[in-house]
Amino acid sequence: MLNASFFITVAHIADLPTESLAEVAFAGRSNAGKSSAINTLALHKRLAFVSKTPGRTQHLNFFRVADQRFLVDLPGYGFARAPLEQQRGWQSLIGGYLASRAPLRGLVLIMDARHPFTDLDVQLLEWFRATGKPVLVLLSKSDKLNRSECTLTLRKARATLQELGLEGTAQLFSSTKRVGVEEAEAQLRIWLDM
Ligand code: GDP
Repeated sequence: MLNASFFITVAHIADLPTESLAEVAFAGRSNAGKSSAINTLALHKRLAFVSKTPGRTQHLNFFRVADQRFLVDLPGYGFARAPLEQQRGWQSLIGGYLASRAPLRGLVLIMDARHPFTDLDVQLLEWFRATGKPVLVLLSKSDKLNRSECTLTLRKARATLQELGLEGTAQLFSSTKRVGVEEAEAQLRIWLDM
């Protein structure tokens, strides 16, 4: 199991930690289940809710999982009430980070299994494709779908990733029912060399 601890909140590209060897970033629409997924994967119950404390929601939150290895919680996007200024901030900080961060090994994109691939998710994926780095899509809250809906959603998601020309794959995930946790953790360990 991953055993993470909060490391640092970063508001500016210039402040990114220099000692990092490998990182995996987590992105998703607000409310997609990203904090729950990080908490489920990284053991500490309320770890990623640090990212929801005032003043930290628009920043990158680093969680250390091993020596020089980090999970990076990116701000949730698509929150209707967020002013344009904040969305621009999202684009420059997150865009800059995703495009140019050498230790970044892969992106975990959390999407609610009941309505995956919203416009903003697709925009992020199309944009991330240019990095040539892989994506792991977690179809979250899969406990809300029945078995045949799960099968169909997973098949469609994998097909969509292929159509979009992305490296990587999709899997079902549920924090509450602990679906896909070992599978996702195995991918994180491969990306982080641990
Ligand atoms: P975030 O905004 O993406 O970080 O999302 P949260 O992790 O805060 O979750 C948003 C809401 O979805 C909360 O009410 C969670 O309790 C709920 N949620 C998160 N993961 C799951 C899951 O696996 N199954 C179900 N049924 N609900 C979930």
